Amino acid sequence: MKVVTSVVELKRELDKYRLNGKKIGFAPTMGALHSGHISLIEAAHKNRNVSVCSIFVNPSQFNNAEDLHKYPRTLKADQKLLKRAGLDILFAPPVDEIYPKGLNTKLLLDLRGLDKVMEGKFRPGHFEGMVQVVKRLLDIVQPDSIYMGQKDFQQFTIVQYMIESLNIPTDLVICPIIREEDGLAMSSRNVRLSQEFRKIAPVIFKTLKWAKSNRNKLSIAEIKTQAKVKLEAAGLMPEYVEIVNAETLKGVRKLNQQHKTVICVAAWAGEIRLIDNIYFS
Ligand code: AMP
Repeated sequence: MKVVTSVVELKRELDKYRLNGKKIGFAPTMGALHSGHISLIEAAHKNRNVSVCSIFVNPSQFNNAEDLHKYPRTLKADQKLLKRAGLDILFAPPVDEIYPKGLNTKLLLDLRGLDKVMEGKFRPGHFEGMVQVVKRLLDIVQPDSIYMGQKDFQQFTIVQYMIESLNIPTDLVICPIIREEDGLAMSSRNVRLSQEFRKIAPVIFKTLKWAKSNRNKLSIAEIKTQAKVKLEAAGLMPEYVEIVNAETLKGVRKLNQQHKTVICVAAWAGEIRLIDNIYFS
């Protein structure tokens, strides 16, 4: 595994592979890696790609300075995991490689409201920062495919929209959510859960499954209300439970055979904010 920290060095390495006709598969991350991240690298290998992973805690997507400060940083352990997974290139740049002085990296793209619902409502500016860094990383890496997790449903929907509207020649591959044995979606934030909240947190996935199994018995409004009650009763503080069209992310009031829907949840487990989702219909 080659570890590079500068854009120039990364481009030099990638050129070598490209000259040999290799395809590049890229998984952007913020580190503190777990099996969910590793599944993206494995998916890149399955498609016979040279695998590139970036670890960059992107300041511009944090709307809360404390959350940025407390975000887990475990580069040494991450390197071990990536090496074991057979990663080809790790790109772990400092902030000024991604945002060098004098370079305008702000992306002016109308996200057509995809950024205004769910996460966008509660984390103002988050998606602006997210598309800024993903566009910058795509410009640097120029991968044939980018691998992202269904865990961040709204994120990949927005990235897909960005790729299509800017005509970027990269395929977005979505990878399923990897969960702990008790159903909790793996997340870098899980290590910060207290023992008590770690025990409670699987109720999120249980509630999502309960909602889906009742989709033909209860109305959408009833499901959303009862799901929130279940999360609260377990000791979590739900921020939202939304059932949305999987493409437009607009809330649905009734199910319709023509459109796939997804149920998305964000809930606080003490001081840790968790998100999860499953396809609903
Ligand atoms: P992050 O480091 O949290 O920014 O995540 C980097 C990538 O890993 C994103 O595409 C996430 O959706 C994906 N990811 C995070 N957690 C999981 C998980 N439990 N299963 C699958 N992919 C995940």
